[in-house]
Amino acid sequence: MDFTPTRGAALARLAAFLPAAGRRYAETRNADDGPRAEGRGNVSQLSPWLHAGLLSETEVLEAVLAEHSPRAAEKFIAEVFWRIYFKGYLEQRPAIWVDFVKGRDGALAALDANAGLRKAYCEAVEGRTGIEAFDVWAKELVATGYLHNHARMWFASIWIFTLKLDWRLGADFFLRHLMDADAASNTLSWRWVAGLHTKGKHYLARADNIARYTAGRPEGALDAVRLAGDEAEPLSEAQDYARQKLDLPAPMTAADLAKPFALLLHDEAAHHAPLALPAAPALVIAAARPEARSPGAVGAHALGFAQGALAGGMEEAAAAFACPAAQWRAGEPLAPLLAAAEVERVALPYLPAGWTRDALWPELAPLTAEGRVVTLLGDLDRATWPLAKAGFFGVAKAIDGLLAECGIAGHPAPASTGN
Ligand SMILES: Cc1cc2nc3c(=O)[nH]c(=O)nc-3n(C[C@H](O)[C@H](O)[C@H](O)COP(=O)(O)OP(=O)(O)OC[C@H]3O[C@@H](n4cnc5c(N)ncnc54)[C@H](O)[C@@H]3O)c2cc1C
Repeated sequence: MDFTPTRGAALARLAAFLPAAGRRYAETRNADDGPRAEGRGNVSQLSPWLHAGLLSETEVLEAVLAEHSPRAAEKFIAEVFWRIYFKGYLEQRPAIWVDFVKGRDGALAALDANAGLRKAYCEAVEGRTGIEAFDVWAKELVATGYLHNHARMWFASIWIFTLKLDWRLGADFFLRHLMDADAASNTLSWRWVAGLHTKGKHYLARADNIARYTAGRPEGALDAVRLAGDEAEPLSEAQDYARQKLDLPAPMTAADLAKPFALLLHDEAAHHAPLALPAAPALVIAAARPEARSPGAVGAHALGFAQGALAGGMEEAAAAFACPAAQWRAGEPLAPLLAAAEVERVALPYLPAGWTRDALWPELAPLTAEGRVVTLLGDLDRATWPLAKAGFFGVAKAIDGLLAECGIAGHPAPASTGN
C-alpha cells in the first residue's frame, strides 16, 4: 500500500476507495484481510492522511456523498464522525490526556524496576507471546505502521485482559508505531476497550470471532488460544472526568488576516489546502514534533510519515503562496522567525489536546496572550464537538443535521495532482 505522505497520494487513495464506501463497506469492513500491496479493499486506510491534515473529514464526506446516497454510505460516514467525536470528547476532558501521560510514564518506570514485567512487555511488543494472532499484529504494526480497526480492538483486549499489561503501555506502543497515531482516537479507544470510556462496558476478544474475521488473510485465519474468558472484569478508576466547557475560537474573518501573517503548519495540519485561507501568508512555518508522542523510540513508518507530511506540506504551501518557508525546530524559539519575516500574526490551525499541543503551546501561549494568534477551526469540528458530551449516540443522531448545517451535500474531491 502506497502511504506516501502527500496530499496527492491522499486524493489518489480517496479516489481509489470511493466505489467501496457504500453498502460494500458496511458489509465487509469488519474483516482483517491483512496488508495488501494494492491497499485493503474493504476499508479506506485514509487515517494517516486525515490525522496529518493532508485531507480533511469534510473533503472525504463530500467525495463519498458525491458517489453514494447518504443511506448507502451511512456506516462509512458514521466512522468518520467517530474520529470527530473522539476529538470533541477529549477537548472537553483534557485531563484524560494529562493523566494518560502521567500514567504512561509511571508504567514505563515500573518496567525498569521489575524484570518480570519487563519480560512480559518485551514479549508482547516483539510478538513473542505464543498467541498467534496477537504476535502477528504486533509485528505487522511495527513493519507497516497500520493495523485494521478490528485487529486494534482484539489486540488491545488481549493486551489488557489476557496478558494483564498496563493499558497505557499498549496505547503508547500504538502511538509510537501507528502512522495515524492520534491522541484522541487512540487514548479513548484503549479506554473504550478497557471499560473506562463507557464505564463497566469492556470489549472481550474471542478466538472464534478472530478466526472468522481473519479468514481472508494470506496466511489464513489467525489462531488465538487461551484468551481471557467472559469472567474478565472491566478496568475501573477512581477519577470521574468532569466535562469542561469548550472554549472554541471565533470563526476567522478576512480582517483577522489583513496584516502580514505566518501560517503555522503542524503535525495535525500539514497542508494549507483544507484550511481554505482567505488571504496568502507572508511566511509558512512548519513545526514537526512527532517524537513528542512518547519518551520511547518512534517507529520508522510513523516518524517518516509525519516528517514527510510536514516537509512536503511546507514546500507546497510556499509554492502555492509564493512566499518563503522556514522550519521551527524543537527547542528553538519561534519569535525570531516571525521577527525576521516582519510578520505580526500567526494563523494557527487548532491544536487539539495531545502531544503536538503539549510541545508547541509553551511558545505560542505568550503570543496568544498578546492577541497575535488567529486560531483556525473548521465548521465541521465547530458544529460537532459540542455534541461529544458523553457517548457517541449524541453525535450519531445529529449526523444528517450536521452535514446540512455545514453544507456538505456531495462534491467531487479535487483531482489528484499525482504527487
Ligand atoms: C485500540 C484502538 C486504537 C486506535 N488508535 C487510533 C489512532 O491512533 N488513530 C486513528 O486515527 N484511529 C485509531 N483507532 C480507530 C480506528 O481503528 C482507525 O481510525 C481505523 O482503523 C483507520 O483505518 P481506515 O482509515 O481504513 O478506517 P475506515 O474504516 O476506512 O474509516 C474511515 C475513517 O474514519 C475514521 N475512523 C474509522 N473508525 C474509527 C474509530 N473506531 N474511531 C475513530 N475514528 C475512526 C478514521 O479517520 C478513518 O480513516 C483506534 C482504534 C482502536 C480500537
